Amino acid sequence: MKLIDKVFLSLTILTLIGIMGNQPTSARVLEDTYNQNQMALQPQVVEVSRQKPTKVKDQGLSEVYHGHKSNRPETLNPKKVKPPAADSRFKQVQLLGINDLHGQLNVTRKVNGKPAGRVDYLAAYLKQREAENKNTLLVHDGDMVGASPPVSALLQDEPTIEILNKLGFDIGTVGNHEFDEGVTELQRLIKGGTHPKTGNFAGSNFPWVVANVINEKTGKTILPPYQVIKVNGMPIGFIGVVTTETPTLVVPSGVAGLKFTDEVEAINQNVEELKKQGVKSIVVLAHNPGTSGPNGENPTGQLVDIANRVDDEVDIIFGGHNHAHMNATIDNKLVVQSYSYGTAFSDVDIEIDPKTKDIVSKRAEIVTTFQEGIVPDLEIKQMIEGYEAKVAPIVNRVVGSTSTELTAKQNENGESVLGDFIADAQRKALNTDFAFMNPGGIRADIDPGDITWGEVYTVQPFNNDLIKMTMSGQQVRDLLNQQWGAKTNMLQISGLNYTWDPNKPAGQRVMSIKLPDGTELDPNKSYSVTANNFLSGGGDGFTVFTKAQNKEVGPVDLDALVNFISAQPKPFTYSIQNRIQRVQ
Ligand SMILES: [Zn+2]
Repeated sequence: MKLIDKVFLSLTILTLIGIMGNQPTSARVLEDTYNQNQMALQPQVVEVSRQKPTKVKDQGLSEVYHGHKSNRPETLNPKKVKPPAADSRFKQVQLLGINDLHGQLNVTRKVNGKPAGRVDYLAAYLKQREAENKNTLLVHDGDMVGASPPVSALLQDEPTIEILNKLGFDIGTVGNHEFDEGVTELQRLIKGGTHPKTGNFAGSNFPWVVANVINEKTGKTILPPYQVIKVNGMPIGFIGVVTTETPTLVVPSGVAGLKFTDEVEAINQNVEELKKQGVKSIVVLAHNPGTSGPNGENPTGQLVDIANRVDDEVDIIFGGHNHAHMNATIDNKLVVQSYSYGTAFSDVDIEIDPKTKDIVSKRAEIVTTFQEGIVPDLEIKQMIEGYEAKVAPIVNRVVGSTSTELTAKQNENGESVLGDFIADAQRKALNTDFAFMNPGGIRADIDPGDITWGEVYTVQPFNNDLIKMTMSGQQVRDLLNQQWGAKTNMLQISGLNYTWDPNKPAGQRVMSIKLPDGTELDPNKSYSVTANNFLSGGGDGFTVFTKAQNKEVGPVDLDALVNFISAQPKPFTYSIQNRIQRVQ
């Protein structure tokens, strides 16, 4: 059976579950600004080329966009100073690192207004740097897969692994997203094996290491904790760790039977091992967050703590997870992170003294992969085109049909048809009393007529997980009152109605809140609530969500919407529900 047939078949067997993003057109350009303090769980500002960009811009876009930082002061002056060849007997080694690729093989983003990213461009940069020093290792810091666009996600992220293989990566670790589909699938991607959707897969052709994820049954790490790689005769030890927050970021089934232990303890234990073997050059691949200013000033985040507490034999730490810039020296350890999505990489140059086998100098440059002025790598470009052709039938699949336009444009009350519809889909998916949806996460309208999977993806392209939680009636009122902050941001709602008075001060505008049966919301009663993981984390200033209890991860927002559309009559009609009323 040809792969394309298998993909078709998989559609008939599987409903659209799991993480799926999309790449409806090859010219999609994503753009945004990003608050570095927020984790990689954000809804996003997308410029979708497909439809009505002007209308999209009117929709009160979120400030944040899935952790892609488009405004980068440090990239304005990307010159790296080469190490002074203080002693010609030192061995020059180059480490090229990426983190948080998220399978964004064919996604172009904007950095300082200019196109950047796509792995064929990243490949061209990496090959250019590799040509400068034959003693080069390619390393990655996790979240290579998961929350990925259809070109990778619909093929079980195998395309991303195949491209890392082709690029000649030498070593990597796992991020939280590698656990999205469970440890069995994680190990299949690395070691090879069969998946019903894609058939047999050869796996990764380079080692992955993680020292702090233990199989509770065997008491052993799920992957080797470290790997020693010899470069020009110099042994370099690589130890992997992933944030211990992983169990809170992944569906419980994805981490069942696993224990995530303290990163620093795991690192130090393995540093001891490496020291016994005479390995003095030690690099940690830590899927943990951190950031610093352009010149290494003001380093913050878990990486600072890790750097301070790990054994001083550790020389370099690659970080990730919060998609930020970091290039700082902390406790004499060089700590780097290079944004996300293939829009940048870390170029770390080290010198090793062959006598002591230790790293005697190290410096890093974070390089943005601007598309201007470089030719994309042809081999990788052709691989991407092949994957795009394979997923096209899925992206073009009709999932439903509407006789009316579902627009995200809000009326004077702050409510939109599509906002109501999406909130209904999310409430239905988790069977809760209420659902709240941030308007910035609704990225396009749905036109009358057939609705394709790709069209739904342009509406909800961010692969946000839906979170079920418990809130009191008072918290719901407080939440709604947070809509009028520095700017107005009207949540789209399902399961309740309310009135608001624009003449009241911000924080006191919400008047009567009613349930569908006409009764008033009880401030002391507990209600079940659905919101996406961005809101659940307090996104867009909705900090009340962070106080909600009993949080449980549910399906991805896109899948909830696709399923909701598929369950409607064909065609269906839907109109504004008048859940929000402004009183004068
Ligand atoms: Zn992560």
